[in-house]
This record gives sequence, C-alpha cells and structure tokens, in this order.
Amino acid sequence: MATKRKGCSHIEAVGTVTQPAARVCEECVMIGSRWVHLRTCQTCGGTRCCDSSPNQHASKHARGSGHPVIASAEQGERWLYCYPDDSFGEY
Ligand SMILES: [Zn+2]
Ligand SMILES: [Zn+2]
Ligand SMILES: [Zn+2]
Repeated sequence: MATKRKGCSHIEAVGTVTQPAARVCEECVMIGSRWVHLRTCQTCGGTRCCDSSPNQHASKHARGSGHPVIASAEQGERWLYCYPDDSFGEY
C-alpha cells in the first residue's frame, strides 16, 4: 500500500456500497479453509478472503471474473479497492 492513489472510474461508479451478506469467505467455507480478512465484491456481492489469507479468493475472483472493485468487509473499515487500477477510495 505504498502508492495510495485516490479513486478511479470504477470506484466512482459504486453508488451504494454492497455490504457482506455473511461475514465468511464463501469459497473457504466450501473447502474447509480459513481466512484472515474479508472483502466484498461490488459487482456481484460475493464475500471472499483477502491477500493475507492462504487462498486469496478475493484477488482470484477479481482476476477470473473481471469484477474490479471490492470493499473491506471488516467491521469499522470503510474503504474500496480497485484491482485493475490499484486504487483506493474511502466512503
Ligand atoms: Zn478502477
Ligand atoms: Zn477464501
Ligand atoms: Zn464479483
């Protein structure tokens, strides 16, 4: 997180931030794995695990699906991140 650029067209396009339906990584649950932090995809609303987690499901989902923006699903954190632009935004 050394280069903290603010905003991009993807983040600007997020109107209402989608919150997690459940505070679990839906893919880790299926394979019985663990996670560190959770991120919610702003395109499909799926919640998956962060890059500090062994499976990095949020990044894999973003690359595989082309869904660019996630929001932190951690309580008290209010930020968005865009993968293709490596860009952060707060809300
Ligand atoms: Zn972007
Ligand atoms: Zn996961
Ligand atoms: Zn998605």
